[in-house]
Amino acid sequence: MLEKTVDVGDRGAAAAGYLQAWLRFCAAFGLRGVFNFGPTGRQSSVADDAARRRDRGGRPVSGRVIVVGGGIVGCATAYFAAQAGLDVVLLEREHCGYGASGRNPGFVWLHCRNPGFALEISRAGRLLYERLLIELPGGFEFRAKGGLIYFTTDEQGAVMAEFAAARQADGLPVELIDGAEVRKLVPPIRPDVLGASFCAEDAQINTPAVVRALVAGARQEGAAIREGVTVRGIVRSGDRVVGVDTDAGRLDADAVVVAAGAWSRALLQPAGIELPVGGERLQVIATEPLPPQIEPLVYGPLAAKQYALFRNLPSWDAADSDEARRRVIIDQVASLTDTSAMVWHQRLALTPWRHE
Ligand SMILES: Cc1cc2nc3c(=O)[nH]c(=O)nc-3n(C[C@H](O)[C@H](O)[C@H](O)COP(=O)(O)OP(=O)(O)OC[C@H]3O[C@@H](n4cnc5c(N)ncnc54)[C@H](O)[C@@H]3O)c2cc1C
Repeated sequence: MLEKTVDVGDRGAAAAGYLQAWLRFCAAFGLRGVFNFGPTGRQSSVADDAARRRDRGGRPVSGRVIVVGGGIVGCATAYFAAQAGLDVVLLEREHCGYGASGRNPGFVWLHCRNPGFALEISRAGRLLYERLLIELPGGFEFRAKGGLIYFTTDEQGAVMAEFAAARQADGLPVELIDGAEVRKLVPPIRPDVLGASFCAEDAQINTPAVVRALVAGARQEGAAIREGVTVRGIVRSGDRVVGVDTDAGRLDADAVVVAAGAWSRALLQPAGIELPVGGERLQVIATEPLPPQIEPLVYGPLAAKQYALFRNLPSWDAADSDEARRRVIIDQVASLTDTSAMVWHQRLALTPWRHE
């Protein structure tokens, strides 16, 4: 089991970024009218919220909000919207946590987030977990023990040194540690490790447990969570969304939040809304349960190939390209002994995708 770690740090300093990131998140997903957060991230009064809620066209939103999809995004939306006093119905076609949110290793990985919005919203999310840990019924597993990317050659070490310096310039506490320090943090690490970049802000959640806690919290706040209901389409009246068609009939709503993950695009297209969300095939390997042996998150040098941040560094060797990357992945899958895979106790997630 992961520990419950509550180390809230300097909430005051983080509050402005937190609020800003949330507002940008809400704006990006068309939720500006649904949520209104006070400067500490807590909701202001329901009466204030009712006065300020607006949809994308600036019209007031009140009454029923339908949330489509019971992943971490939909369940968080249902929780916060119900907490803000809205009448919330969440519709999930399978069960909450059925999609990507039920199948990931829960890395809260700030280490390689691009400076600017990506880093800002990742930090806001990390703070949010600390708050949810306190207020959601049942809690969930959250481990804030940092994360590292180890390296095994001097060439990789040169890139990692540049990477750590660049991250520090971005305001993220990433330091270079030597092989002995890596072995202290990760005793079962392979013997040829020379060092690593280490970010103290990285953390890990048990994502399905977070989803369950959000569902419990949303119910407690009065939201209705309906599983086994498929939304077939969005219902519009003129330029306004007024409800959804489901396999259990039509439901009226004053606002609809589509949080259907990879399925959102197909759901929105017939309503004339083009959402630039695409699919990525990821793989997770689950082993038998093992006793916990590793506290920080662990990536190997392969991680560097996923992130544009590394490819832009002067020491990055462009010749070490896609073909080499594919070969390494195949070797990893074959051997399953290389801890450059991500370790979540008994789960290994291989990550042959790139974050641009
Ligand atoms: C293998 C893997 C590893 C990952 N690792 C990490 C990681 O370490 N850290 C990290 O931050 N992210 C990770 N991710 C990404 C992360 O899991 C997703 O970004 C996140 O879970 C998306 O949440 P969501 O709520 O948007 O979508 P989902 O969790 O996919 O939820 C969408 C829900 O909508 C439902 N739905 C779809 N269509 C309909 C419909 N028509 N009607 C009703 N319900 C519908 C689905 O059943 C599903 O439950 C990983 C993803 C994968 C697959």
